[in-house]
Amino acid sequence: MTITQEKTIAAKVRSDFPILHQDIHGKPLIYFDNAATSQKPIAVLDALRDYYEQDNSNVHRGIHSLSVRATEGYEGARDKVAKFVNAASRQEIVFTRNASEAINLIAYSWGLSTLQQGDEIILSVMEHHSNIVPWQIVAQKTGAVLKYVELTETEEFDLEQFNSIISNKTKLVSVVHVSNTLGCINPVEEIIAIAHQYGAKVLIDACQSAPHIPLDVQAMDCDWLVASGHKMCAPTGIGFLYGKLDLLLAMPPFLGGGEMIADVFLDYSTYAELPHKFEAGTPAIGEAIAIGAAIDYLTSVGMDNIHTYEEELTAYLFKQLRGIPNLRTYGPQPTADGKGRAALAAFTVEGLDASDLATMLDQEGIAIRSGHHCTQPLHRILGVSGTARASLYFYNTTEEIDGFIVGLKETIDFFRSVME
Ligand SMILES: *Cc1c(COP(=O)(O)O)cnc(C)c1O
Repeated sequence: MTITQEKTIAAKVRSDFPILHQDIHGKPLIYFDNAATSQKPIAVLDALRDYYEQDNSNVHRGIHSLSVRATEGYEGARDKVAKFVNAASRQEIVFTRNASEAINLIAYSWGLSTLQQGDEIILSVMEHHSNIVPWQIVAQKTGAVLKYVELTETEEFDLEQFNSIISNKTKLVSVVHVSNTLGCINPVEEIIAIAHQYGAKVLIDACQSAPHIPLDVQAMDCDWLVASGHKMCAPTGIGFLYGKLDLLLAMPPFLGGGEMIADVFLDYSTYAELPHKFEAGTPAIGEAIAIGAAIDYLTSVGMDNIHTYEEELTAYLFKQLRGIPNLRTYGPQPTADGKGRAALAAFTVEGLDASDLATMLDQEGIAIRSGHHCTQPLHRILGVSGTARASLYFYNTTEEIDGFIVGLKETIDFFRSVME
């Protein structure tokens, strides 16, 4: 850890996050549950409040000033998302409630209208439930078949095995960019290039990459990409879907209602232009404006800076964890300079229950998650019912990692002493 990095990022931004400055059970909060949801900077909280205090109105059809301002704010946020992921057009960005809804949109719209008996969908065993269950529903309704990419020895995406199961029957490959449990960074460019050779579409679940790594959907060449705002400094209730224009144009609507129509007659309707075709009903206007503010904030810190700083945190975290006997982390080890995986560690300690560890650490003001992290099939394959997970973001520090490691060692010693 270079002192300068720490000074330039975490030390500088921590004052922007009011929630971090509090005691839990009399100890300063160490928030290491960022893979579940991130905290929100003042700029985002202000954007939400300012919208409701000054501009609140329904969007799009209004003539009056407040409605014009609300519409400008909402559509301006779409421009920010488009730029953030480098979409070719703002029409390629659809606001959803979260990544789960975005995946369901694709499953119900594209999946149900396109897939047929015997078509194959390739997922990986490390997928979040949100990228498994919608495809199970679509498979049941259409007769499509699910296939799974397995793990390598180092608990990463097995590209070789992927190559052996993909075929001309494959119509969709839907995979996570960065695993929320293993922390591995999947070779999405390669996966997409291979899938396209077989004419398959590719959906990338970017929930754990969008907050941490600069994204470029055009360079990646994915067909769809989804993310949730609440993991990238925005409020809950807002997420987005990126889709290639020709695909979104060809896809039928998912939900029907206001906002998504051109003309409605009693016996039929015509639909609005993109992206509104996929945004039925009054959207989460304030939350969309706030995701725009979150993107402004992340961009001002710099996605490259965030990524580099998190690599330093990763190296430091794993170095400390390696010093704890009988502790096993999952997924690949980082390189000495913290490359090759995300700044999160799912782990188990031999003989101890993950939720007991999390409960005891909470008494020390340390917030980590325990359980299956919505990756139950993966946990079954790893042979554990649950893991503990510490997940970091750019406002975390090496001092907090030190505090976490001390707390964890004390917790382990405590349980060992009562078990004796
Ligand atoms: C959090 C997460 C999801 C689901 O996000 P929601 O906001 O709950 O819709 C999907 N995939 C991954 C990898 C995640 O981390």
